[in-house]
Amino acid sequence: MEDKAEWSARTLAAQALGRIDEKTRAIVPPLHVATTFIRDPDNLYRSGNIYGRADNETVREGEAIVAALEGAPSALLFGSGMSAAIALFLGLGPGAHVVAPKVMYWSLRNWLVNEAPAHGVAVDLADADDLNAIAAAIKPGRTKLIWLETPSNPLWGVSDIAGAARLAHGVGAKLAVDSTCATPVFTKPLALGADVVMHSATKYLNGHSDVLAGALAFASDDSLAARIRQIRAAHGMILGPFEAYLLIRGMRTLDLRVRAAAASAFELAQRLSNHSAVSAVLYPGLPHHPNHEIARRQMVGGFGGMLSVRVRDGEAAAIATAARVRLWKRATSLGGVEALIEHRASVEGPTSPCPPDLLRLSAGIEDVEDLWRDLDQALRP
Ligand code: PLP
Repeated sequence: MEDKAEWSARTLAAQALGRIDEKTRAIVPPLHVATTFIRDPDNLYRSGNIYGRADNETVREGEAIVAALEGAPSALLFGSGMSAAIALFLGLGPGAHVVAPKVMYWSLRNWLVNEAPAHGVAVDLADADDLNAIAAAIKPGRTKLIWLETPSNPLWGVSDIAGAARLAHGVGAKLAVDSTCATPVFTKPLALGADVVMHSATKYLNGHSDVLAGALAFASDDSLAARIRQIRAAHGMILGPFEAYLLIRGMRTLDLRVRAAAASAFELAQRLSNHSAVSAVLYPGLPHHPNHEIARRQMVGGFGGMLSVRVRDGEAAAIATAARVRLWKRATSLGGVEALIEHRASVEGPTSPCPPDLLRLSAGIEDVEDLWRDLDQALRP
């Protein structure tokens, strides 16, 4: 156990925390699928297992790995990133005010704007790359949570986590960070002062485009975490055991996958910056990116595997480019081993801040030269 405290997150995830199954001595933990459990003779449940909607041993093992990756005392896994985030917002309770980014994962922004008020949660959207704008949106006494997503979909702005944590704590609020695209490999929001980290584990944590999952990791196992655990149990939001098993397997290679994707994204961002068909490259690793300095301070070891390009000849040319790729997959989502390309405005609709000429790229772990050749030919009609 003392050893574990010294091991890096990469080592812990590679060995799924190094647990050995007591009965078989297997180095891969067994998959627990039971939904119900036998009571002890004296009517207690000493195993800690009662019913599958509240908890599951395979899910707990996945949570322990997410907690280790984020340096958190506890974590919870959900059936999707959306359900993880929504459980947190519901956990704030009616009357809560939330400050959230104008640019963020569109589906969650839509939920905050259109659905959260029906649950008694009021939301104001602010330019989250600007601490002054966040400060101006805070309602002292009412604001319970600042929500950040950094880097943020699909324009890849970077928010100052430590600065936003100071703002939140100054008014007795909490800071939560959607760190899906930064990944625990490059950013540790809890160490920077955040109270909760959220992941769409569907993306990099699992990494193989075959599991829908979400995670919350908590800086302290407090009453909010307990409330969210209750909400998860009552609403049946827990991740299924098969998905938890696959997620554990995916996280074993998280570090390698994410570093490979980020190296390719960085290389592609540089080459695309000089491409005649591209008018702008949006990537926090580029020196001209407006938030590059904060990205350099906050993202350690890489800037992530996501970038966007604006196609010089406009929307129709962008859509035609996405139709011409042969290796990149023209599909939504991100963070898998395969490179994905998407015309985001087609997905997000008219309320989106996404320009119509933008293509979002999720670098995979393929050979970067193959990725480059395919993009280059697709950009040149
Ligand atoms: N947050 C970000 C940054 C995402 O990209 C996504 C999904 O695309 C989500 C949250 C929602 O996650 P899920 O699709 O797992 O519900």
